[in-house]
Amino acid sequence: MSSNATALNFDQQLAAMDLVQRFEFIANSVKNTTFTTSLGKEDQLITHVIASGSHNISIAAINTGRLFPQTIALIETTQQKYKIDIAEYHPDEVETKQYADSFGLNGFYESIEARHECCRVRKLEPLDKILKNTDGWITGLRREQSNNRAHVPFCEWSEKYQVFKFNPLADLPTEAMDGFIAEHDVPINPLHFKGFPSIGCEPCTRAIKPGEDERAGRWWWENDNSRECGLHQSRSI
Ligand code: SF4
Repeated sequence: MSSNATALNFDQQLAAMDLVQRFEFIANSVKNTTFTTSLGKEDQLITHVIASGSHNISIAAINTGRLFPQTIALIETTQQKYKIDIAEYHPDEVETKQYADSFGLNGFYESIEARHECCRVRKLEPLDKILKNTDGWITGLRREQSNNRAHVPFCEWSEKYQVFKFNPLADLPTEAMDGFIAEHDVPINPLHFKGFPSIGCEPCTRAIKPGEDERAGRWWWENDNSRECGLHQSRSI
């Protein structure tokens, strides 16, 4: 069976399972699986489920060097609460210096090209390292997060990274996610209580206004409605 056909088969099976069953299925179906956490609400829920089970799933975070202090603090809080190790990956120092020399430290405000280059250096390169020896990649993508994510599957084959990409929360409504977090006392970023449903790098994230979609505060100065950092864009898959 081709990798795409296998991913479709995984997708159909995952659709019929509950949340806990999905993680058991993923851990049992793929050899080396890594969950990449942004420390957002979705990802904290996933960390809770992984830490509460006996799955052999490693957890990694990309520390871009531009994260909110609250996000950095949450890495430590989460490791202590669940007694787990979250492997931190950092951008290459030479590349970040070259970026600053060419575009300026905050050059990403000036053009989409400069912004994509910053995300490439600070996020995509570390992600390459994380996924290098991985067969399965778990993310916290949900269909309700934005129009751009409305059709996220439970599993797809990533040609670019040569991994099965799993999105076990794809169909989880926001209300159910918040209920789970409250019920299980999952630690979350205090910025979520200040209008930040989606939290990325500090200079590229603002609070949202009533009625805006959850990701409206990310790269808000750009007009492209499908803006993403590149980690989850179809061209990266
Ligand atoms: S989100 Fe902003 S600061 Fe972070 S990597 Fe992308 S452009 Fe750079």
